[in-house]
Amino acid sequence: MENNTVITDNQKLLSENIIALYGKRSRDYQQINLYKDVNPLDWEDWRWQVKNRITKLDQIAQVVKLTPQEEEGIKSAKGRMAMAITPYWAVLIDAEDPNCPIRRQAIPTANEFQVGPHEMVDPCGEDNDSPAPHLIHRYPDRVLLLATEACAMYCRHCTRRRLVGNEERSETSSNNKWDAALDYIRSNKKIRDVLISGGDPLILEEEVLDDLLKKLRSISSVEFLRLGTRVPVTLPQRITESLVTMLKKYAPIWISIHFNHPKEITKRSKIACDMLSDSGFPLGSQTVLLQGVNDRPYIMRKLMQELLKIRVRPYYIYQCDPVRGTGHFRTPVSVGINIIEKLRGHTSGYAVPTYVIDGPGGGGKIPVGPNYVLSQAKGKYVLRNYRSKIYTYLE
Ligand SMILES: *Cc1c(COP(=O)(O)O)cnc(C)c1O
Repeated sequence: MENNTVITDNQKLLSENIIALYGKRSRDYQQINLYKDVNPLDWEDWRWQVKNRITKLDQIAQVVKLTPQEEEGIKSAKGRMAMAITPYWAVLIDAEDPNCPIRRQAIPTANEFQVGPHEMVDPCGEDNDSPAPHLIHRYPDRVLLLATEACAMYCRHCTRRRLVGNEERSETSSNNKWDAALDYIRSNKKIRDVLISGGDPLILEEEVLDDLLKKLRSISSVEFLRLGTRVPVTLPQRITESLVTMLKKYAPIWISIHFNHPKEITKRSKIACDMLSDSGFPLGSQTVLLQGVNDRPYIMRKLMQELLKIRVRPYYIYQCDPVRGTGHFRTPVSVGINIIEKLRGHTSGYAVPTYVIDGPGGGGKIPVGPNYVLSQAKGKYVLRNYRSKIYTYLE
């Protein structure tokens, strides 16, 4: 009952004072011609947000002043990974700044059609580790279930662009497509952890996700469920009282949220995260290191500290996978190592995620970071601390 009270308060806050929720960081949506007549209750309706996603050049041109690079990108991005931007996300964009981090993650540019020498369609070799459709089994005790190919928004750096965003083939309602994956999990007793991702599982209809969670929970060897989502960031309206009530039936569920920039932490996304936290779902963040978006240590520090304030524990920073057409987002590995160097010891340990590279071809996540062990001999470790002062530890 306690938890429900909090949610109800949030819901009340939503309907009473919706416009005030959008802080100084975003333009009031009613100032934008495209949205000037939108009823605040529609704006708060996640289905309205999905139905009114920006997919066409003439729509986005009413929200931002497009560069020629962007115009070319939008015209050529067809089929999979075409542009799709929720109105909520669109109004967070800085209309004048082509380098706006919110904008660069959402609007395609001509750079996506340049394929670099080491870039691949399936950089993490997921298709080779797939024992059943929609299932990836790489580690001994856990699997990744790709529950849908749809997302609220298509991030331009997506590592699964080979699968994601094929909106033509609508697939949200058929839920026997997981039968083979469920059979595999059921028959493999070593699997104790199922990570449900996609696409974005929280874009599924509630009954469909409910059914999937119910089937997974009925497998006695599955101890641990996780959801990987970006909905609290790109479509926070989706976190409704009814969704949270449904998810609670299958607790414990850990939720990993894809956050990349401090600007994504709005009053509205905080409400979505609060609703999840207040209902007992532990929240983690997964961040992709992106050139020009979050590749400066002070931006990452700010992001991690702001995440802690909304009770999201930084989990991973990913090196941007060598997916075809993402070279303009990729940084040298040293940039990521330096970010960890500037976090560890300099701020709360809880604000320091693990920086990982997904081993190309299927190696899984490999941690990389600053080296604190300077030398190691029998019974003796020579270490440095975050200030590069040297200490000897005798065993
Ligand atoms: C990331 C990932 C997991 C989960 O890894 P953790 O380090 O446990 O979070 C599982 N399977 C695959 C294929 C993955 O890519």
